[in-house]
Amino acid sequence: MRHIKKPALITVFTLAITAAGMGGCSPPGRNVTIPPPDQGCAKISESEKLLVVVPQMDRDRGLMTRLSATGKPLVDILENPANDLRACAFPMNKKTRIAGYYSYDKKIIHLGVSSDSKTTFHESFHAAQDINKFAGGEHSLTPRDFILGWLLKEATAMAYQFVIEKEADIMRVELTPSDLWDTSDDTYNKSLFNNAYNSQIAAGKSFEEALSSAGKSMVRRLLSGADKSWREFYSDQAIFNFEQNRQHILNNKESPDYPQKRREILKRLGAVSDAINLTPDEFLGETADAHITKTIDLSGIEIYSSSSGRGPIVQRSGFQPLR
Ligand SMILES: [Zn+2]
Repeated sequence: MRHIKKPALITVFTLAITAAGMGGCSPPGRNVTIPPPDQGCAKISESEKLLVVVPQMDRDRGLMTRLSATGKPLVDILENPANDLRACAFPMNKKTRIAGYYSYDKKIIHLGVSSDSKTTFHESFHAAQDINKFAGGEHSLTPRDFILGWLLKEATAMAYQFVIEKEADIMRVELTPSDLWDTSDDTYNKSLFNNAYNSQIAAGKSFEEALSSAGKSMVRRLLSGADKSWREFYSDQAIFNFEQNRQHILNNKESPDYPQKRREILKRLGAVSDAINLTPDEFLGETADAHITKTIDLSGIEIYSSSSGRGPIVQRSGFQPLR
């Protein structure tokens, strides 16, 4: 592994695994395939080269620009030369079923050559989280809150796909599917999102408020543990990333202003714009600790102290404790 100068937060890859039927994504961990190498890269701020090398990024950036509430705020982040974000293309195949991933240390959105628009949206959201200092913010979280942050990062990226797709539906902006496999939403999650959105509109809430609220509903569902495949997949990834970063995380201490710092990190993590945020309020308020503990329980992850001096043990429930 190459040397990383900044504190070694090894959340290097997030992989959009459409095999789950949900457009979720993950870093490489247990049971995750390392993606194929990139064929070419371009800075997102340099549109002429981007169009040639990663046309799917250029295509979807164009779609996002037309979505003023949900897409344009991210495009502003993606295109800002100061953020130095790049996009790369890699060959896709049905065996790995990898459509996209985001590299935190390199600030690269990797997109498969036949990837769909929702994969671009998902990975772009991770890029925005990174620029909004979530990857850096993880460094200052305690072990339990790091795990929560990891789960929340994926749940909000997933919810963002529904949020932006809603505006696209309303604006009649057509998204591009993958020609390799089915990238349609699972109907249960989509109807849950639409019901939440419609009830907010019926209650007189604004478009942005309704999108925020429905997005938070989606995040709550994912974090409730009700979706077993999502829960198990991302619990494993959260544990994997904790272990990769263990030595650094153990240095994190709860200072008197820790609850406020954590609040800022978790809030930035769910930000789409000033008006739309997907982080559920219960993780930001006075009772955040109780909600975080409950969410970790529901994820099937156990965290407990060990006497070995290695710090806490983090594992999936039902595993035999390490000795
Ligand atoms: Zn993801």
